[in-house]
Amino acid sequence: MANRLTRERKTVGVMIAMYCQDQHGSEPESLCDECRELLEYADARLERCPFGPKKPACAKCPIHCYKPAMREKIREVMKYAGPRMLKKHPIMGIRHLIDGRKKAHLKDQSTEKTNQVDRDETTQSDTDMPI
Ligand SMILES: [Zn+2]
Repeated sequence: MANRLTRERKTVGVMIAMYCQDQHGSEPESLCDECRELLEYADARLERCPFGPKKPACAKCPIHCYKPAMREKIREVMKYAGPRMLKKHPIMGIRHLIDGRKKAHLKDQSTEKTNQVDRDETTQSDTDMPI
């Protein structure tokens, strides 16, 4: 639970990368300027989230902290990458991808060691769109 923020940031990163590669033709390890900016923005929002680790999924959050332009973009990313994430990495896969692996395609923030999550505590939230 405490790692929720980190997990969410990684999820966002993976989704933006997926979107950028497919939509903007960027290389696997890089993002175009626009997407990089979006990722940085998303990171910053998460970092400053007043709910901290107790943060609800953004979709359920009472505070919509994204400014409209960024919100639009991230929505587009979620819309595109969300279903693909699920197809490519069904729940367990997603959890593994997000929690269990150190290597992220994007800048790798904290590399906490999360054990494979055991219970269903995150089953739902992992599939939630972070925003
Ligand atoms: Zn892009």
